Amino acid sequence: MEISSKVLMQKYELGRLLGQGTFAKVYYARSTTTNQSVAIKVIDKDKILKAGLVEQIKREISVMRLVRHPNVLHLYEIMATKSKIYFVLEYAKGGELFDMVSKGKLNEEVARKYFQQLVNAVDYCHCRGVYHRDIKPENLLLDENKNLKVSDFGLSALAESKRQDGLLHTTCGTPAYVAPEVIERKGYDGAKADIWSCGVVLFVMLAGYLPFHDSNLIEMYRKIGKAEFKCPNWFSPEVRRLLVKILNPDPNTRISIAKIRQSYWFKKGLNTRHTNTEVEEKIVSPSGTNASDQRDNSGRLSAETSQESLRPSSLNAFDIISFSTGFNLSGLFESSFQKKEAKFTSKQPASVIISKLEEIAKLLRLKIKKVERGLLKLEGIKEGRKGILSIDAEIFEVTPYFHLVEMKKSDGDTLEYQKILKEDIRPALQDIVWVWQGEKQREPPQLQEQPLPHEQQQQQQP
Ligand code: AMP
Repeated sequence: MEISSKVLMQKYELGRLLGQGTFAKVYYARSTTTNQSVAIKVIDKDKILKAGLVEQIKREISVMRLVRHPNVLHLYEIMATKSKIYFVLEYAKGGELFDMVSKGKLNEEVARKYFQQLVNAVDYCHCRGVYHRDIKPENLLLDENKNLKVSDFGLSALAESKRQDGLLHTTCGTPAYVAPEVIERKGYDGAKADIWSCGVVLFVMLAGYLPFHDSNLIEMYRKIGKAEFKCPNWFSPEVRRLLVKILNPDPNTRISIAKIRQSYWFKKGLNTRHTNTEVEEKIVSPSGTNASDQRDNSGRLSAETSQESLRPSSLNAFDIISFSTGFNLSGLFESSFQKKEAKFTSKQPASVIISKLEEIAKLLRLKIKKVERGLLKLEGIKEGRKGILSIDAEIFEVTPYFHLVEMKKSDGDTLEYQKILKEDIRPALQDIVWVWQGEKQREPPQLQEQPLPHEQQQQQQP
């Protein structure tokens, strides 16, 4: 069935629905500039708020920003409107590993390749204090070259969320794949729990069915608690030995990732030239720029990579989210967002904002310098109380017609700066400002809600 397409934030043409979770819908989409395929995960902010999942989403965002590995689904950018958050993700064309397994068991070579890739991804995350905690075939996707991509960090917990005993305390994950210590609601070591789930995935790939299964949930938990499983006769002795060490109910004596790597079965056919931490991918964003290389810690594009020195930096939605009430992710923002700068949004193109700032500088007898991409410096001519006053005005692009401008004092006296800002600059900017930070906010015009393709369809139905 033909689905009418919709362009999201002038950047992505949304296509068919790929999948659905409790709080999110995942759509196929294409970049309007580079034509690159992406997957867009649409999360309903309202549902998240009602379910008290704000913290979890914050965590998902911060986790995804920490992780960059060829076997971990990459998050390119985040966008948001007042009611929705959009995660722009690497598109996994091969779909779920689960689909392959549900058609029948995999042969040992194929299962080994996926297991090696899974262990590489999990090891990489663990080294960064990130635990997946919901490893299962549905969260294991494949790209067009049949390489594994671990997805869905919604249930991840960062190392910081450990309690004083250094153990994680939330029970989550899918029963058939979770470790006994997770079910028992004891504090648990996220790394050891993930290793157990990897063992269940390995068993499922080779057997075509679950190691711990029972129509009675209590009975299933009992089997998990005792690690009561039986390998089918086609399992090789090497893989049996490895599985017994992974599916060990005692997390303290359960095999570590380092030891898994050393096992005969794991090493077979592996190219050992690359150690896990070396294999970071050069990620090219859907808009064709190398996102990982160009952004500095503040999310601003660095000057060195800039060809057009005046094009403003683009914002990746952390800022947009902060503009919508009730879902303030400011805690995730980098340091520049935590300082007390004056910020405003404008519906004008960057060229108009720049002209206005130039006009104001002239009026106030300030020198104006265009320093780098989207950054202007307004400087006093005369020495003030604490030297020459210098104000930075930085323009970030949200869409070509919606910008965020941040103004802050970079030199000189604070009182002098506050006075000129309040009495001269703010009033002079009046006709280009849409809203100043801290004032009552409205929904940006370019970011207004539009129905998603399936919603349009539903609405068209009689
Ligand atoms: P999630 O809410 O992340 O579990 O996603 C729900 C389903 O959408 C998954 O099980 C996949 O079938 C599909 N899906 C999610 N992300 C992607 C992606 N990046 N590429 C292709 N399909 C995806």
